[in-house]
Amino acid sequence: MDFDGLFQTQLDTLKQEGNYRIFAELERKAGAFPRARCHDDDSPDDVTVWCSNDYLGMGQHPAVIRAMKDAIDNCGAGAGGTRNISGTNHNHKLLEAELADLHGKDAALLFTSGYVSNWAALSTLGSRIPDAVILSDELNHASMIEGIRHSRAAKVLWRHNDPEDLDRKLSALPANAPKIVAFESVYSMDGDICPMREIVEVAEKHGAMTYLDEVHAVGLYGPRGGGISEREGLSDRITLIEGTLGKAYGVVGGYITGSEALCDFIRSFASGFIFTTALPPAVAAAAQASIAHLKVSSSERKSQRDRVAHLRRRLDQEGIPHLHNDSHIIPVMIKDPVKCRMIADYLMQRYGIYVQPINYPTVPKGTERLRFTPSPLHSVDDIEHLVLALKELWKQCAISHAVA
Ligand SMILES: *Cc1c(COP(=O)(O)O)cnc(C)c1O
Repeated sequence: MDFDGLFQTQLDTLKQEGNYRIFAELERKAGAFPRARCHDDDSPDDVTVWCSNDYLGMGQHPAVIRAMKDAIDNCGAGAGGTRNISGTNHNHKLLEAELADLHGKDAALLFTSGYVSNWAALSTLGSRIPDAVILSDELNHASMIEGIRHSRAAKVLWRHNDPEDLDRKLSALPANAPKIVAFESVYSMDGDICPMREIVEVAEKHGAMTYLDEVHAVGLYGPRGGGISEREGLSDRITLIEGTLGKAYGVVGGYITGSEALCDFIRSFASGFIFTTALPPAVAAAAQASIAHLKVSSSERKSQRDRVAHLRRRLDQEGIPHLHNDSHIIPVMIKDPVKCRMIADYLMQRYGIYVQPINYPTVPKGTERLRFTPSPLHSVDDIEHLVLALKELWKQCAISHAVA
């Protein structure tokens, strides 16, 4: 069997479709975010990153870096084991307490990433709750989809952000079946925010558990960064809140929060929690410092909001179509995978602007886009440089100015 030949054939198909993934090789510069050194031959050495999920630049915050260095000096590099076998460090417990407090919950449980937290928690709930049915928003993230699939529980898709459809789907199920409603607060590709109150009310009416992914909202929304659920005063009505430490908090790791019994249940049964080495104590310490900072400081959130509004205004003035939403994510629709890649290459090579083209299967075919995430550290000049570059390319590439 010619395995490499088989691999190559499938890769060639991806390339022909314009969906082959090319990663930019960057060297992030602490203290200079959103600037990075680019190691790709055909790009300038210095580029401005416009698509980072380090939404507030917390990955270079002095308090975060200091906490990480101090913890390395105190504890060394790694955790030394799984949580069960010598890997539970004091820093993990402190971070879990910080997270439980962030969401107003009794307990929290750490994972090595947000992906793993969704995968492990949903697969455990779905497989361990007898006859569970998981009602999943049709646009949920791959980590939730994979967790649900692995659980082998019955799954019902409901129309994206549509509480009425959820209500219909719940009504069609046996009244006594255990039901789990799984959804996100901020959907990162369109940047739309769910109608959380309506979803929670529908779930409550049917006695369903609510499972909320706040990955793109924690640190960014709510007076203490507790996400959309905090902003809307709904945290205590949601059974399980899941989040990441890798995006707005600028480090790495994932978590769930909920009741003591719920977290103990996942801790005790989730393979993806039990059989893997714990996060390095320094990572936990850095994440805790980041969360603690954003609980009391709103200035990063405020300037991010100002920059987002500024970029939107300038795009509108220049007639560059972007999806209107209430979040910090600005999708500029290209609607063609080859053009999307081409514009991204031009931006990088000619203007030193790095934005990753978002193509299928991350988004449906025909909805290819560039996705901009302005941070507090993008200057007004950075925004101007970006808008003028887009304007120029728009002319050259004859992309529709029709609003997406
Ligand atoms: C990125 C992402 C995750 C995974 O989080 P990581 O910490 O990056 O593994 C989960 N859910 C959503 C919606 C995401 O966008």
